[in-house]
Amino acid sequence: MAVETRKERLRAILWRTLDEQLQSEAGATDPSGNRRRLTGPWGAFFDEHSAWDGTTQLSRDLYLELKGQFDDNLIREILLAAADVKISRTTLAKRKIELLQATAGRHGFEIVTSEHQWILRADRGKGGWANRVERLAEPGEAGAVSNVYIASDSTLADTGRMLDEAGEDDLFGALLGIPACCREAFDRSKSLAAEKQNDFVPYVLENTCGDMPYDWRLNYTAQYFGFSLLSFFPCSFRCPAAAAVADSTLSMLAGCDAAWAKRFVELQQTNVLYTENGGLHLFRAHLRNGLIAYDPRDLQSSEATELAYLLKQGDRLEVSGQHAVQVYRGSTKIGAVAGEDTCMCAFY
Ligand SMILES: [Zn+2]
Repeated sequence: MAVETRKERLRAILWRTLDEQLQSEAGATDPSGNRRRLTGPWGAFFDEHSAWDGTTQLSRDLYLELKGQFDDNLIREILLAAADVKISRTTLAKRKIELLQATAGRHGFEIVTSEHQWILRADRGKGGWANRVERLAEPGEAGAVSNVYIASDSTLADTGRMLDEAGEDDLFGALLGIPACCREAFDRSKSLAAEKQNDFVPYVLENTCGDMPYDWRLNYTAQYFGFSLLSFFPCSFRCPAAAAVADSTLSMLAGCDAAWAKRFVELQQTNVLYTENGGLHLFRAHLRNGLIAYDPRDLQSSEATELAYLLKQGDRLEVSGQHAVQVYRGSTKIGAVAGEDTCMCAFY
């Protein structure tokens, strides 16, 4: 069946199901008997133009409980799902799933897990952020992870799992709160990305026009260094729809913990040198006139690669384009990296 037809049929089936469910719910209609507009993840599912509501309040109690138990990215994802802004997906081992399940019970949100468990294949140079599935896990095998779907209610979480497992990336992406333009870009690049390590940075950069620096709110490469405001690859580093998502996320996080939100901003206002196999390297120093003058202390690498070592010896990066940089120490050029597997992503 054509993709569009299948997508529309799935939407129609879910719409009927929801319609029946919503009719019976108190508050589902306004005083004139019209059904209220769907909000949250269902709003995005049925309306391509639905925007995130940045005024939603995240639960500070939940935040305090999650802190120290999960990483910053996942805490962001759990908070947004629990507040019915979007649904979220992650992969977790059994012990963490039990921990999250107990928290969900206390805070009134739901998680469902995949039937299968997997062993992941470690990535090269990405500090674990681009791990892919190696194989199905044996029952009880150490190191196995499940896909975990987090949502404000079980219908949403189940629907997310069903769409993901059916390979319905576009509809699943809508529930994840990803703008339509970014979902389309993902779909165009996914087979190419899968040939390497499933990383979309080169395709996002290719789609980004104009001079550097780009929109720092869309610095998704920051997630390799801990966290970012987005949970998805934007279609370009200047996508207005993704920037609106980042803005909403930032204001919601700030409402929860201003100091924590500031750390997201600081990590995103950086410049990142991405390579396919030689690691990612983040500079907390400005790009000015095509140059990044840095102190080794401003530099953070995802892994201790040869390139990381070279950069540590330098004090200046000369950026001659999206795919070419030269490394200097003083006036001496000590190295260069270039080619399609090198991507200079400047946001600062
Ligand atoms: Zn986009």
